[in-house]
Amino acid sequence: MGKTLLQKVWDLHTVRRLATGQTQLFIGLHLVHEVTSPQAFDMLRSSGTRVLFPNRTFATVDHIVPTLDQRRPFLDVLAEAMISSLERNCQEYGIPLYNIDSDSQGIVHVIGPELGLTQPGLTIACGDSHTSTHGAFGAVAFGIGTSQVRDVLASQCLALEPVKVRRIKVTGSLAPGVYSKDVILEIIRRLGVKGGVGYAYEYAGDTIERMSMEERMTICNMSIEGGARVGYINPDATTFRYLEGRPLAPLGDAFDRARAWWTSMASDPDAQFDDEVVLKAAEIEPTVTWGINPGQSVAVSERIPYPAQAHDAESAGITEALEFMDFRSGQPIAGTRIDVAFIGSCTNSRLSDLREAARIVRGHHVAPHVKALVVPGSQRVRKAAEREGLDRIFVEAGFEWRGAGCSMCLAMNPDRLEGRQICASSSNRNFKGRQGSPTGRTLLMSPAMVAAAAIAGEVTDVRKVLEPVGTTR
Ligand code: SF4
Repeated sequence: MGKTLLQKVWDLHTVRRLATGQTQLFIGLHLVHEVTSPQAFDMLRSSGTRVLFPNRTFATVDHIVPTLDQRRPFLDVLAEAMISSLERNCQEYGIPLYNIDSDSQGIVHVIGPELGLTQPGLTIACGDSHTSTHGAFGAVAFGIGTSQVRDVLASQCLALEPVKVRRIKVTGSLAPGVYSKDVILEIIRRLGVKGGVGYAYEYAGDTIERMSMEERMTICNMSIEGGARVGYINPDATTFRYLEGRPLAPLGDAFDRARAWWTSMASDPDAQFDDEVVLKAAEIEPTVTWGINPGQSVAVSERIPYPAQAHDAESAGITEALEFMDFRSGQPIAGTRIDVAFIGSCTNSRLSDLREAARIVRGHHVAPHVKALVVPGSQRVRKAAEREGLDRIFVEAGFEWRGAGCSMCLAMNPDRLEGRQICASSSNRNFKGRQGSPTGRTLLMSPAMVAAAAIAGEVTDVRKVLEPVGTTR
């Protein structure tokens, strides 16, 4: 019987089965950032342990970095202490660091693929929930906590429960104005935020196969929001084209050998799945969250649901979300006035995201009551966007053009909501307080939808403002 990619990668990286029923799994690549690593390094130091594979460990700074003025020392004393701590730790343990002054700095899940570190068939770990992003390349990538960061630094291994595999097939064409962000929001809406618990999600089907690597990363990024342990897409010609020539990808003959091996890691045609779900792309509309988890969403043409429409387990959550958001059941989501528009985060801050958003805002101006910012995912994205003149389009439209970092995705930096502000956000979490204000409200949507909302000053259907590709003004 054939095997899934998950089974192949898992088997190849298994060190041994533990008495607990867990597997001791070797981790091929460990990505580190400034927030979840200081305590891990302290634990390592106090036990006199070295980093076992510094050459499989790469660090960057993203969560706490200011995006307005990135000069050192940072004005925020705590942020400065965190970055200094990472610098000391990387120097002491011989770990490469893509620091704030590096052309390669950026959000950890943006720079890994950009540099060619993220490759098919790898096991990858990082102290951030959205490590599943790297599954877009056919890697098996785990978000881990601080004590597991210590474990990987010390042993390059993790003790993990086995997971089942659910194949999620998306078939058919997406309509203009519908993006990969809408696809993953729809998957989470249908299967629930806990629907993936105990599963790896394998995304498949012709809709997924036609997606660029950047679109695939958006899909895999939010696997964790659907409860899945990991999410991945089988590597194919699109994957290999993306990787060829990247600074840290194999070169020449080594690349050809790697490509042959990467190809062999894809799920076999006769692989068995523990579950399968099929979605039709044509049924997916631009999607917006209205509540306090990423599964609480509606198509932009729909109305906010009534608690009675959900089964019992979910109706209490709807009531709580309505109270927090100060929304009413039956109210259309379109027309919801916004205060802030944020284009950024490891979900949607790559060049194609910025191009699409710029296409929407070009020749328009942000509504007077809206604060709008674009935060590229990395220095490379920022420079590439500037070479294309995207920064000028955004600035002329009234957006702020910022330096690379996590910014308002989780607001561990100066970019934060204030009070009850409502933010149209291209990020991945709309939990209470996620964007810095305990009472702030987040509406997740695609970058194009954020751009349209910034201009209109309210949630609006991007399909109404979208012009055909290639149209000039
Ligand atoms: S952008 Fe948000 S989700 Fe992504 S790495 Fe940063 S804080 Fe985590």
